[in-house]
Amino acid sequence: MVIPEFLSGGGEMGRRIREYDWAATSLGPVESWPQSLRTCVRIMLDSRQPIWIGWGKDLIKLYNDPYIAIVGGKHPTALGMPASVVWKSIWREIGPMLHTVMEEDTGTYVESQLLIMERNGYPEETYYTFSYTPIPGDNGGSAGMICFNVDDADRILSERQLQTLTRLGKNLTDCLTYTQAAERTMDALSRNGRDFPFALFFWVGGEAGVSGAGDSMEAGGQMVAGEPQGPLAGDDVRLTQCTTLGASATGVPIAFRLTDDSGLAAALRRARDSRAPQIIEGIHELLGAMPQGEWDVAPDKAIALPIFKAGGVVVAGFLVIGLSPYRPVDELYINFCTLIADQLTTSFADIHVLELERARAAALAEIDRAKTLFFSNISHEFRTPLTLLLGPIEDLLNDPASLESNKYRIGVAYRNALRMQKLVNTLLEFSRIEAGRLEGQFRRVDIGALTLGLASTFRSTIEKAGMQLLVHAEPIKGEVYVDTDLWERIILNLVSNAFKYSHDGSISIDVRELGDQVVVSVSDTGVGIAKDQLEKIFDRFHRIENGGGRSLEGTGIGLAMVRELVRLHQGTISVTSRVGEGSIFAVSIPTGSKHLPPDRVSHEPATGRTCWFPM
Ligand code: ADP
Repeated sequence: MVIPEFLSGGGEMGRRIREYDWAATSLGPVESWPQSLRTCVRIMLDSRQPIWIGWGKDLIKLYNDPYIAIVGGKHPTALGMPASVVWKSIWREIGPMLHTVMEEDTGTYVESQLLIMERNGYPEETYYTFSYTPIPGDNGGSAGMICFNVDDADRILSERQLQTLTRLGKNLTDCLTYTQAAERTMDALSRNGRDFPFALFFWVGGEAGVSGAGDSMEAGGQMVAGEPQGPLAGDDVRLTQCTTLGASATGVPIAFRLTDDSGLAAALRRARDSRAPQIIEGIHELLGAMPQGEWDVAPDKAIALPIFKAGGVVVAGFLVIGLSPYRPVDELYINFCTLIADQLTTSFADIHVLELERARAAALAEIDRAKTLFFSNISHEFRTPLTLLLGPIEDLLNDPASLESNKYRIGVAYRNALRMQKLVNTLLEFSRIEAGRLEGQFRRVDIGALTLGLASTFRSTIEKAGMQLLVHAEPIKGEVYVDTDLWERIILNLVSNAFKYSHDGSISIDVRELGDQVVVSVSDTGVGIAKDQLEKIFDRFHRIENGGGRSLEGTGIGLAMVRELVRLHQGTISVTSRVGEGSIFAVSIPTGSKHLPPDRVSHEPATGRTCWFPM
């Protein structure tokens, strides 16, 4: 067969057109084709642009190699077929244009036209810029048309992707809470109803980093109602944000557990365990009627993406995004969704850093406040003994009166100098303990005798105030090691507090053995301590305002130091108290010396004790 010149070359489609039995179609054998058709076919086969020609009233289709990608799965059967058969799925859009070309002899042109093409076995979102140009027949009028195409899908999809990611990036800048970040993600996604018909955000567990989930629940367009009260356990999942779901979306669970039997829980579990996105199929069955976004049907697939807490190990929540019914779930689409999840994870990490900074700033402010309070207390404390020192000394200077009265004044000055010295020593000691420079020198003692002896130094003061001092020590079988100086400070602090915060009744000191511990308790029948203060009284500089003591004197450092000193003995201190009834402070330290650093232990029993002046 001689190949007509106009059909030579043209790659695969040139060959297919040559081999095709055109005589069996309305076009008739090639030799009978009118000149205009021949010329257009020649142009089409030579072009690098996707072109098709429709000929005759049925618009029998001819196309070139670059057009093969457009017909997709319909190639090569589309050759020689009526255009209305090949493009049944988009006939609603292109039919009227072709009618204009053929009946009115007028060309048409559209830019970036959305066409949902069913060419690869599924409906697909595509965009084309194309023109239909009439081809005159030998007898005048349109005998066919030629179509030049530009595939815009890649450009449109990537522009849309960029738009969403840019908006999301902007939205997530300066987020202060996790809730805000999730909400703003919903906002960005809700503006791209073609790629994301709907989006849901689920929190998991209730630990740090999820605290924000509880605050305002305004989602990108929708508030989620009925979230459970109180903290969540590790497997608890809660829907906290979503794009607008509409009244018909009644099947989305608000709260469930990751261990549940549902398809959604299973998908989230897979996402958590694999730390990777998971496709969820059968959305209609799982969640009911979901929004359609910008399409005419609702998605039947969604993707579940894990969102991580700072550190990237623990899952903070899941982003569940409805997938377009008109996009293949390919790498491109999944990567797009993953980029969104990554941005949210990054935002969570930023918020975590912000939270740490906020906590650090609050802690610093608290320390600062405590310091200021402490310094104002301490300056009062220094001022009183100083005034009491200066007064008698000035009197002495101005009045060389009788020896007796001078003795009294010197006594006052001396006691106050001692009080001042004790205060300064306590402060210095406390800072040594804090700096870890106080190590203790532990000696074996008769703990009962030592403790009761120390407590008894208060007897006359207590009895003068009309109160009773009750002491009791049972024999201790185990060996007891203490640093006698430090022990003295512990006991005297506790007993002087008991006296300071009791106005009548009694103060009892009790020493007993409990298992491998010696327990020394100091009880009083004083003002007691409110429940919410019990934990705090051991904090540095913490004082209870209007604590009801005998005097307002105090620095709030005593119990903090006692606790440190007890720790140095590897012991513990606890308090039980009832407001208006009294308090019991119990110190327990282990018997024996194994718990103590060997080089700080002396096995010689202690004799005597250093003098200590109570205030
Ligand atoms: P300070 O007595 O110098 O204020 P502390 O550290 O010794 O400091 O005590 C801290 C706070 O604990 C006190 O301000 C007081 O309110 C409370 N407190 C301590 N011991 C007692 C007690 N036995 N009874 C009632 N309150 C007490």
